[in-house]
Amino acid sequence: MDTQDRLRQLPKVDELLRHPDVERMLEAHPRTLVLEALRESIDVARARLLSSDDAVYDEAELLADACTRLSLKARHSLHALINATGIVVHTNLGRSILSERATAAVADIASSYSTLEYDVSSGERGSRHVHCEELLCRLTGAEAAMAVNNNAAAVMMALAALARGKEAVVSRGQLVEIGGSFRIPDIMRESGATMVEVGATNKTHLADYENAITERTGVLLKVHSSNFRVVGFTQEVPLEELVALGRRRGVPVFEDQGSGVLVDLRQWGLPYEPTVGESIEAGADLVSCSGDKLLGGPQAGILVGRADIIRMLKKHPMARALRLDKMTLAALEVTLRTYLDPEAALAEIPTLRMITTPVERISARAELLAAAVREACGGHAVVDTAPDISRAGGGSLPLADIPTTVVRVFSDSVSAFELERRLRLGTPGIIARIKEDRLLLDLRTVLESEERVVVERVAAVLAGAE
Ligand SMILES: *Cc1c(COP(=O)(O)O)cnc(C)c1O
Repeated sequence: MDTQDRLRQLPKVDELLRHPDVERMLEAHPRTLVLEALRESIDVARARLLSSDDAVYDEAELLADACTRLSLKARHSLHALINATGIVVHTNLGRSILSERATAAVADIASSYSTLEYDVSSGERGSRHVHCEELLCRLTGAEAAMAVNNNAAAVMMALAALARGKEAVVSRGQLVEIGGSFRIPDIMRESGATMVEVGATNKTHLADYENAITERTGVLLKVHSSNFRVVGFTQEVPLEELVALGRRRGVPVFEDQGSGVLVDLRQWGLPYEPTVGESIEAGADLVSCSGDKLLGGPQAGILVGRADIIRMLKKHPMARALRLDKMTLAALEVTLRTYLDPEAALAEIPTLRMITTPVERISARAELLAAAVREACGGHAVVDTAPDISRAGGGSLPLADIPTTVVRVFSDSVSAFELERRLRLGTPGIIARIKEDRLLLDLRTVLESEERVVVERVAAVLAGAE
């Protein structure tokens, strides 16, 4: 057959639409996506026929190609993944996952009308701030509280409200960058506050702040150095001393606390992190933190502090632009409620549960999973376990080495990079680490309900079935 004859075998899209396989595709997917997939697959088949005189048209192959293309087109861009990295608050993978109760509350509020801004007792308009304020006050001891879109927004709004057109005094050791897009100096500039840097990178003394205070000072800012530590010849001014100075000179003290720790993590063997409540107890006039780092809730920025300051913030024009939506409020309220019983918080809030799971528990799960993969893959790979380190992530607890046991997968026929790629691209995607040419799976961040599909996918990927 000459090339023209072979090309004439290629079907028209309209003909393919009557094929039973394609009819099934049309039942499950929008017509535009099916047509697009078919056209692309026909183009691929045509290119193959043109590329070699031996190539023949294969209808089954074309339909299989269209099917793969269609499932990729139909897949939601934002879709669920399995995090097998052992990095708990993984910023790229969505930081904290919500508890079951919080997830249920989101679905409930998303699909119903609600009390978002409605006071059922009076039958009149209410405020969206009420849902979380009392809980935040109970959990931190603060007089008043509010929540906005994220902590970057909280810091920006607080600085704008307290120091726009004025000066904000901050230690040079605390001019931090968090995750590339949040830099204290940039946020300060955008807020309209003039940054007054004091001290040196490694040491700042109380006198440095004292000497910088003028009649133009709007706020003394303290920033938690979330994702790094300065070690050696260092000094920071304790919050209590900064507060005493602020009181003496009539300047409010605002602490950006970062991670949002509500309970003392030392009780579970983790390093000390100041809690939001401790900052309030130390006298901070305003404290901000993230909702989705160690707090383990939805993306949010939490502000707690003096009633007069929070009142001013609620009325600030930025508060309207940065306000939380009802689904986030639902998740935040339920997450905060869970903290009323710290044992329940530990058991139910995935971020807390994951970072505190004892290594023995992870090891036992890892051994079982390794054995299941060995059995399922039938000798295609060497699968064992080894001690390793998990991380809190999200710039939290940067120095904490959380001991873990990883499952290691090594194959003679498929490289670790190829295994990692296949696991990442399949469904459900599994994100793993590579170390010393081995694929590592850390079950600390894998839900027990996800283990079965991890075994199936690893075995399939090793067998070259995916
Ligand atoms: C993470 C962090 C922020 C930014 O918080 P987002 O909730 O990501 O906006 C700001 N300040 C500190 C100290 C942080 O650790």
